[in-house]
Amino acid sequence: MGGLAGMGAGAAAPGQAGEPADRRTLRRVVSSFAPYRRRVAAVALLVVVTAGVGVVNPLLVEVVFDDALFCNGCPDVGLLSWLVAAMVALPVMTGSLGIWQTYLTNALGQRVMQDLRNALYAHLQKMPLRFFTATRTGEIQSRLANDVGGVQTVVTETASSILSNVVIMVSTVIAMLVLSWELTVLSLAMLPVFVWLTKRVGSARRTVSSSTQKTMAEMSALSQETLSVSGVLLSKTFGRQREEIARFREQNAELAGLQIRQQMIGRSFFALVQVFFSVTPALVYLVAGLVIARDGATAISAGTIVAFTTLQSRLFFPIGQMLEVSVQVQSSLALFERIYEYLDLTHEITDAPDARDLPPDTRGAISFRDVSFHYETAPAEAPRRGALEHVSLEIAPGRLAAVVGPSGAGKTTLSYLIPRLYDVTGGAVCIDGIDVRRLTLASLARAIGVVTQETYLFHTSIRTNLLYGDPGATQDQLEAAARAAHIHDRIAEMPDGYDTLVGERGYRMSGGEKQRLAIARVILSDPRILILDEATSALDTVNERLLQNALETLMEGRTTVAIAHRLSTILAADVIFVLDRGRLVEQGTHAQLLEHDGTYARLYEEQFGGGTVEARCADGVVLRSGEVVPAG
Ligand code: ATP
Repeated sequence: MGGLAGMGAGAAAPGQAGEPADRRTLRRVVSSFAPYRRRVAAVALLVVVTAGVGVVNPLLVEVVFDDALFCNGCPDVGLLSWLVAAMVALPVMTGSLGIWQTYLTNALGQRVMQDLRNALYAHLQKMPLRFFTATRTGEIQSRLANDVGGVQTVVTETASSILSNVVIMVSTVIAMLVLSWELTVLSLAMLPVFVWLTKRVGSARRTVSSSTQKTMAEMSALSQETLSVSGVLLSKTFGRQREEIARFREQNAELAGLQIRQQMIGRSFFALVQVFFSVTPALVYLVAGLVIARDGATAISAGTIVAFTTLQSRLFFPIGQMLEVSVQVQSSLALFERIYEYLDLTHEITDAPDARDLPPDTRGAISFRDVSFHYETAPAEAPRRGALEHVSLEIAPGRLAAVVGPSGAGKTTLSYLIPRLYDVTGGAVCIDGIDVRRLTLASLARAIGVVTQETYLFHTSIRTNLLYGDPGATQDQLEAAARAAHIHDRIAEMPDGYDTLVGERGYRMSGGEKQRLAIARVILSDPRILILDEATSALDTVNERLLQNALETLMEGRTTVAIAHRLSTILAADVIFVLDRGRLVEQGTHAQLLEHDGTYARLYEEQFGGGTVEARCADGVVLRSGEVVPAG
């Protein structure tokens, strides 16, 4: 839940101010059925018919006893046959209608769940990066899978059973009144006890249910984190398996305890209902006896008493179910609330109403105009240093800009502001002089390609991973991009070529291969602007050279902002920006900055001091650790 801190729940939640949360949630749940009005009406009709017809049989019981079986001492077989035929036909009819109703209800519930899950996924896709950095993946997945799944039963079963039970109860009470008002008064007098029980049990179960969901989410987040490749790697190399197991056991024990409590609350309540079921017929016989003693044998017939006890079980059964249903509804309201909580989060970074597309032939000039940015996780009252403060810089179209600086200087943050992964908190980032906040996100994504430090590949074929860059690319285009990224030959050697499956997060490929595959993917998407966050880990000489060649091809003709860790990139850069504690402290070419003998010169000495690395500049001149070496 920590992830939601500061995310700003939107004002989108419908309902009146001051309305209780439960009712507001219920109103939203009901409104999700709105697109399926006709289906809802059909289901309701079927429910009313099947539930209403059910009252006829108990009424027939009275006629069977008083007029057919014991009429003047001998049975009226003719009438009895008709009555029995009706008593057989009616349940068969209601049973068949019930099957049809179940189908329609399920189909309806599934559609509503599908809509909800789709809405949630689409909403989450548009959430800003900030939301994901602050929320555990397991928590998000738990809401999408467990919570939406959890409400499924309620939507498919509970809604129709509520209507059905209401119809059964109303029709039964009417039938009871027709039979005997005294016995009806007795039955109804017991209702308040049930209502009181519902409230008690409902609130207890709700508390336990929401704790259970929370623990389940925590457990799934924990297992997700610790059983992933990176998590396992970490716990193995730090020898922390024992602690992880203990942590899991603790949560597992808590879950088991909660689930037992949940079951017990339901079960003890059910036991009480059963006691009522057994006790009430006995009370009916007693009251009937008292009435007959007072008013004579004709006051209540034997048929009336049998019919009444049958009706009574019809009354208490739905009441028992309604009590269960109300408990279920209350538990699932908690789940719905968790889903709506996410749906109400604002997207923050969206297209402005007057946003326009960045033209496909954009030149790709980038400028930062007095840009400041701070992450909002620090308490508002705490003095905070922005991740970026008053940064102004210009990058000409087609040029390579290297961003360097100590760890935590704000390099990554700076690169995130260009594709609007975050929005500036002050100043403006512009592409070709247009504030990126005035451009559509789709056109920005098309114009900007990002190669991150940690290469992320989907667990699917190499082809599908590459096609992510351009879904319409032909095999020839794929191969051309892979060749340009110097990965084609390696792919061709693999068992299934382009159809080879990449392991979980691409773990079956080497670091260098993954990087080159990621480069091929960006080459396919052909962005005008390239953001390159170079991996800090060193590669062997062969891989380094392949990567360097791939990068050179990739950067050709594009405006590139490189968070540079490799000397070759720094030396080839047209301009180097030096960041320190969120401020732009120096800028210039490598030679100029060395001469300036400031932060850059120090950094350079620390990172590359003594090493001699060759690099080719944009104009073909070969540089060796900053010295110009005659070409050739
Ligand atoms: P490195 O070279 O180590 O990757 P960097 O120069 O890229 O560092 P940034 O990642 O841009 O630095 O971070 C700049 C500052 O912002 C740091 O102080 C960092 O702790 C902080 N920061 C980064 N990401 C977040 C976040 N999601 N929430 C809060 N603070 C953050």
